[in-house]
Amino acid sequence: MNLPPPGDKSIFQRRESEARGYCRRFDVVFGSASGALLRDVRGREYIDFLAGCAALNYGHNDPDMSTALIEHIQGSGITMGLDLHTEAKQAFMTQFERHILAPRGLPHRMQFTGPTGTNAVEAALKLARKVTGRHNVVAFTNGYHGVTLGSLAATGSRYHRMGAPLAGVTRLPYDGYLGAGFDTADLLERMLDDPSSGLDAPAAILLETVQGEGGLTAATPAWVERVASLARRHGALLIVDDVQAGCGRTGRFFSFEGMDLQPDLIVLSKSLSGYGLPLAMLLVHPERDQWRPAEHNGTFRGNTHAFVTARVAVEKFWSGPVFQMEVARRAQIVTQHLERMARRVHGSRLKGRGMMQGLDVVSGELAGQICDRCFEQGLILETSGAHDQVLKILAPLTIGLDTLERGLAILDQAIAASMVLGLRQAA
Ligand code: PMP
Repeated sequence: MNLPPPGDKSIFQRRESEARGYCRRFDVVFGSASGALLRDVRGREYIDFLAGCAALNYGHNDPDMSTALIEHIQGSGITMGLDLHTEAKQAFMTQFERHILAPRGLPHRMQFTGPTGTNAVEAALKLARKVTGRHNVVAFTNGYHGVTLGSLAATGSRYHRMGAPLAGVTRLPYDGYLGAGFDTADLLERMLDDPSSGLDAPAAILLETVQGEGGLTAATPAWVERVASLARRHGALLIVDDVQAGCGRTGRFFSFEGMDLQPDLIVLSKSLSGYGLPLAMLLVHPERDQWRPAEHNGTFRGNTHAFVTARVAVEKFWSGPVFQMEVARRAQIVTQHLERMARRVHGSRLKGRGMMQGLDVVSGELAGQICDRCFEQGLILETSGAHDQVLKILAPLTIGLDTLERGLAILDQAIAASMVLGLRQAA
């Protein structure tokens, strides 16, 4: 092979589309990874607080998942199976039913959609419209659900909406959007109750319980429960988009656990495979499972290699309570550090919950500077929020305590350095 020298990025500049994103901020060539660490081809190590944007909740290359996958491949296990019955799918579904659905009293069926989060959201929207015979969907300010046309209609971000012809969604204020004194569920209730409010009866209410891209705003359980009961009362399906907040990110498998509700449809993707392999699943309440055979079709529905690693993830992390206790411990460490960091930045606020926390530093420019400084010091993290003003910590849930502390120290120093620089510039 006659390839460019390691670290040469010219092919990306020459031939990769302008659509590229993350690689612009983290502009090195990565070569290997394990656990919470990434290495570039020059051998420099980075602590990964991005974790594949929550697609690597169990870190990079979990050894048990690697072994199972290698054994599957070397044993000539099925790779491409359309949606045929396969041994790998059978094993995953059995363990998912045993360790996730049954203990939580969820009677839902598993629908394997195309492997992206957005395709599973599309399936949810289509099914809700089919089941109810209605078209409108209620979605919330700062929500993010993907960038294909149906999901994009429900996504708030103006940058992503790009003036595409999007329809069929009514956007209402998310919890806290109008300040602490205003319960936005009151507005939703009033508009649903009033036949002349202009809100067409919705097929579904679609929400994230913690808004991943929208700035780590966490809804209160009381608000989500109220929205769920309004959905039921008005004949709309409740869709919880757990693409980013699910699979343990908030500390429990589903982000709505501990809340008094049962979604009609639950969307999962990102960390479902456990290994970073593409896999998405829509959980459908049996009463809502009104699809005709292959109606939401697709060639890559279910990824057999992903089923192998997803089965290991469920068995390894979710067959007992220990993992959840470990995640809670890490989340507490993150909170404690963030509280200290918040004192450095005037007007800053803690956001999120579980291992999906961050710091709103008010200014997108400041947040960007802090991220860049972190990267220089060997820490990868991104921003989120309407103005990219929230520093977002998405460390793997399995991160070692030492590595977590080291990453948080880099972040703290980057914030401190940016504040000093800011003061100097102001002087
Ligand atoms: N829903 C949520 C809550 C997400 O965070 C994302 C991705 N960031 C999506 C849907 C879309 O998933 P994908 O990028 O895999 O299409």
